Amino acid sequence: MRRRDFIGLSAATLALSACEPLARLRGLGIPLSVLRPGMADGHRLRDAIKLPEPGGELSTGVAILGGGIAGLTAAWRLAREGYTDFILLDGPEPDGNAAATRFSVGAENYAAPRGAHYLPLPSRESTHVREILADLGVIRANPQSERPEYDESALVHSPEERVWYQGAWHEDLLPTRALPEAEAAQHRRFEALIASLRTARGADGRKLFAIPIVESSRDPVWRALDRLSFAAWLRREGYTAPSLLTYLDYASRDDYGAGLAGISAWAGLHYFAARDGRAANAEPGAVLTWPDGLQTLARGLGKYIPAGQRYAGYALRIEEGRNGVRVLCRDKDGKVYTLNARRAICALPLHVAARVVPNLAGYGFDARRHLPESAPWLVGNILLRGFPKEQAGVNLAWDNVVHGSRGLGWVVSTHQDLRAARPAHTVFTTYRALADATPRAGRDLLQRAPDTELLALALEDMEQVYHPLDLWRRMQAVELILRGHGMAIPRPGYLDNPGLAALRSTDGRLLFAHGDLSGYSVFEEAAWWGDIAAQRILKG
Ligand SMILES: Cc1cc2nc3c(=O)[nH]c(=O)nc-3n(C[C@H](O)[C@H](O)[C@H](O)COP(=O)(O)OP(=O)(O)OC[C@H]3O[C@@H](n4cnc5c(N)ncnc54)[C@H](O)[C@@H]3O)c2cc1C
Repeated sequence: MRRRDFIGLSAATLALSACEPLARLRGLGIPLSVLRPGMADGHRLRDAIKLPEPGGELSTGVAILGGGIAGLTAAWRLAREGYTDFILLDGPEPDGNAAATRFSVGAENYAAPRGAHYLPLPSRESTHVREILADLGVIRANPQSERPEYDESALVHSPEERVWYQGAWHEDLLPTRALPEAEAAQHRRFEALIASLRTARGADGRKLFAIPIVESSRDPVWRALDRLSFAAWLRREGYTAPSLLTYLDYASRDDYGAGLAGISAWAGLHYFAARDGRAANAEPGAVLTWPDGLQTLARGLGKYIPAGQRYAGYALRIEEGRNGVRVLCRDKDGKVYTLNARRAICALPLHVAARVVPNLAGYGFDARRHLPESAPWLVGNILLRGFPKEQAGVNLAWDNVVHGSRGLGWVVSTHQDLRAARPAHTVFTTYRALADATPRAGRDLLQRAPDTELLALALEDMEQVYHPLDLWRRMQAVELILRGHGMAIPRPGYLDNPGLAALRSTDGRLLFAHGDLSGYSVFEEAAWWGDIAAQRILKG
């Protein structure tokens, strides 16, 4: 440590620097909250021996069960088409993985995502996302054109991303220029392949890799890649450069919650090749983001729900009968009632649906064989006073990644702030998929690990980069969000999961909608299934 680093730090702070993170946090009086959305309710459902008796009844045309992006999109579509006889039941977490937090400091509020934080420019096939964005004012003109015009404040500002490699920051997420030619040549080969796959079509004339995934080509030659892991495919194709493999492993954990060996090769390529959206006013590859992440979109969708029709509480049991769907619900005060609906949309994560829809197998989904494995995630929101000191001449980016780390770096909630001076505070949101062991072991860790261990995981990347004393004296509050079942992992074989295919095509009184139906989880897929379910209802 250099001597000048001591200046301005109290003796107490210095003594604390040797302590474990939680003691340090407590010693500095920094509040810590640890949230486990849905965990207690979910475990109660799992362990329930006997369901409670309902104490009342309620009726509606359509019951939308689940207040994540899928449920909210269903509500948006119904309301937009003039069908308002519905109720949306939020479950344990309004907005689901698109939820956000707000820290108050004096008169200022600092929002930050608790999960989903960005949306790539939507592909040509994502017509539903373009419609949503146009309705919410994010697309300003020509929503279905090759290059729509976007609201500048949502297009990520420069510098968008950087990677920490061998003690210095580099532009982009792959430090190609800092590497020997043999490695750089492999980066170029991979990039060229992806560029060609972005426009490639299968024998059926469809794009090889599309978002939503169901619009992708069914060409068996390409779909055969789904039988291999991404790691095996990379080996087969001679991709051996450690820097490339490290980067691709990061990308795989970032998008799918599992490393290269744990995901389908088809999914690995889809991540890169399907994202081909363009904008009239942004570079290719730009993304849309807001201080609170995708909660801005969730809120915009939620505004379509008529007043009084969004309910707190959750579904305990969903059963289709001859005349409709009966949903046993518990409200926020613990009261149990029956919600009778002519039709219902089950927009719940499938591991929850497997508990509350007793006849799920009757819809073609056998939870023991068809339930996608889900990845556990840890998200950390760190409220900071000012900004940690950067290396001379280096600017903080929106997305900051440490090459070779098991963490996924952090995004900066105030990055899109357009002010003359930097804000007094900021929130760094750190991400980590617990991908080093089985998902079950990751969930055990989230459930049992002491707060100090969770905190250390959440801070690991920032502590590698910033001077710890500078970082710690700026910390004002920490919120950890533990998502035991964050997102479905696209394991090899996921494209042909017959249970998912069955739920996707269900069109009776009970319909299904959730990102899980695609076998992996992004905004576009969740919104797609919500939209499809609503359109089926509108068709009668
Ligand atoms: C850490 C993390 C980061 C992510 N980042 C991004 C990103 O940057 N961009 C992106 O596109 N995607 C991201 N995703 C993927 C994200 O999951 C999707 O974008 C999308 O938000 C999923 O929406 P959903 O409706 O399918 O599901 P969920 O968000 O899982 O919503 C499910 C809903 O069901 C409700 N529910 C649960 N149980 C019950 C019950 N018994 N009764 C009633 N309701 C119930 C919940 O309260 C919740 O509202 C991220 C995911 C994670 C975990």
